[in-house]
Amino acid sequence: MNLTFYGGANEIGGNKILLQDKGAKIYLDFGESFDFGEDFFYEYLAPRTANGLEVYFEFGLVPKIPKLYSKDMLKLTNLKYEKPDIDAIFISHSHSDHVGHLPFVDEEIPIFIGHGTHKVIEAYHKLYPQLFSIGEHNNINLFKSGDKIKIKHLVIEPIHVEHSVPGAYGFIVQTSKGAIVYTGDLRMHGPMSEMTMEFIEKANKSNPIALLCEGTRMSHETEHNFTEKEVEERIDKIIKESKGLVLGYFSMVNIDRFMSFYNAAVKNKRILVIDTRLAYVIDNLKEKIKVLPDVRKDKNIRIYFRLSKSCTFSEKDYNIWEREYMDKMITYKEIAKNPKNYVMHLGFYRLIELVYLRPKNADFIYSSSEHFYEGEENEEQRKVWENWMSHFKIKFHKAHCSGHASKQDIIEIVRKINPKLLIPIHTQNAEEFKKFHSNVKIPEKGVELNV
Ligand SMILES: [Zn+2]
Ligand SMILES: [Zn+2]
Repeated sequence: MNLTFYGGANEIGGNKILLQDKGAKIYLDFGESFDFGEDFFYEYLAPRTANGLEVYFEFGLVPKIPKLYSKDMLKLTNLKYEKPDIDAIFISHSHSDHVGHLPFVDEEIPIFIGHGTHKVIEAYHKLYPQLFSIGEHNNINLFKSGDKIKIKHLVIEPIHVEHSVPGAYGFIVQTSKGAIVYTGDLRMHGPMSEMTMEFIEKANKSNPIALLCEGTRMSHETEHNFTEKEVEERIDKIIKESKGLVLGYFSMVNIDRFMSFYNAAVKNKRILVIDTRLAYVIDNLKEKIKVLPDVRKDKNIRIYFRLSKSCTFSEKDYNIWEREYMDKMITYKEIAKNPKNYVMHLGFYRLIELVYLRPKNADFIYSSSEHFYEGEENEEQRKVWENWMSHFKIKFHKAHCSGHASKQDIIEIVRKINPKLLIPIHTQNAEEFKKFHSNVKIPEKGVELNV
């Protein structure tokens, strides 16, 4: 039984883990690293689809593995196409650092995806076909938490976990040597943390020989572990004190955060205004996530339509899928008349709307990854954002909590699962794991690790 980490070893994200056991070969996730291509590509200096994998192979950005990639991706490369020898790829959740390189793999390889993850992927692909795709696959299999999937002699059990995107799973893999547990990405401080608890319990019962554990937040410093509930309280307080329109930004697939904004808006008797894309995402996930409000009917929600082509807000100006939400339409005119009645979702690429909304005494709640507000690489974009805020004299706030378990929670998770061997993944602080477990093996990219 051995594991090879083609991504996710000593880096946050990019998980791409090959498990081989007595002739069975499966991958756990097939993601793209966050810094993928950063050293060789810049803006328009980037490979085109026609280049296939040749450019990536040149710089060692994608591992040159036979019997894995599609015929199309291998044309023009010196790796010859052969029938794939991979039995399955299991996907933990929809974030690109876990699914990003699926478009490269052979269409015939069976892909296993959770029902929830599949819904998120479909909605996102419909809205951003150029930006987000998992490629073409002829053999997609959907699973739900607790299913037991047989691949040759292996049995894989996906169990739901709480993360910043709905439909996230960890896996328990029964191998010839015993159970291997893979956390995917998870946390304990969200509203559905009992799902993570269930995963921990089942993982412990499997008496695992190894635990592949995420460690995104395993840095030396301990920070306050903000919970989703605290974030909601902070949003509520900002809305309560605001004397004008409240604007907010959060990731479209962060359903917990959507609910925090929704709850805080309702509590303050304000209407939550979301754009047609966010409405589409919520509308499509409603079937799977019962707590979500019905964007077509809920009186606390209105759907924002931007000015388009004819400038008359008429049906023909909008995409067919957007027209479904016209009953709930709100435009800048109505919001500008009574700004105090609304809380509005507004992203960086939609700041133009401020020119029409002309908000006075407005507040902006930035409620997404801190990465944007700390990373040097976002300096220019951040400057533009700040210019917009100061031009319209908008008061800027931050309210966010992580999608990943805190260091303290990871220590607790490992203690409860109690594996014989601990393998830190999805982390830049793998050494930290040695401080609380006596048998830690730190994986190296591309090197086989025997278990
Ligand atoms: Zn991740
Ligand atoms: Zn994730």
